[in-house]
Amino acid sequence: MKKKNLEILLEGVERYNQPKAILEQYFTPAVIAADILFFAYTMGDVEGKIIADLGAGTGIFTIGAALLGAKRLYAVEIDKDAIEILRRNLERYEVKAEVIAGDVRDFEISVDTVIQNPPFGSQNRHADLPFLEKALEVGRAIYTIHNANTDDFISKKIEKAGGKITHKKFYDFPIPHTFNFHREERVLRKVILYRVIM
Ligand code: SAH
Repeated sequence: MKKKNLEILLEGVERYNQPKAILEQYFTPAVIAADILFFAYTMGDVEGKIIADLGAGTGIFTIGAALLGAKRLYAVEIDKDAIEILRRNLERYEVKAEVIAGDVRDFEISVDTVIQNPPFGSQNRHADLPFLEKALEVGRAIYTIHNANTDDFISKKIEKAGGKITHKKFYDFPIPHTFNFHREERVLRKVILYRVIM
């Protein structure tokens, strides 16, 4: 599959009805999700692999990884409303994934690859840390998105845990205007996708 085809397919993934600010529910746009997934695919971290999507939301990474030939998928999500949409999306795309309703902190299965877009910590400072720590614990290859302005902090955390950052990719990530504390229509936040090998 070409990246553009993946992007077009992922455009159809249903988003949050009413994203919850407290959980920092930011849907990853199809163009970014396809870029990350395709990158992971070309690095050999998707096809035939066991993959965890931590904070799966409505499932764009889980579905994209399935379309690129992942062997087994775990979608971990704490929010019931998101899970309802996630299940609908899995059905619509005929994707088999194990949905785990709960906190990422409690996920204890070792996987080949973790793909995650954690809360950026704009609501609760360092809300992304439990995700990062869990990914470094259970994953071998890790794809994780963080606020660009926390780069030093995140890089140190990864290195301290024994991870090796092999790539950094920069994106402008749209934050929806649905959160009323954001005045402008749409805010673009600079984020970094890290690829880490443990
Ligand atoms: N991966 C999706 C959603 C990213 S937003 C996408 O890229 O589109 C982050 C998601 O993490 C939200 O759906 C939120 O409900 C969930 N979340 C926040 N804290 C969590 C926790 N402690 N455990 C599990 N999920 C959590």
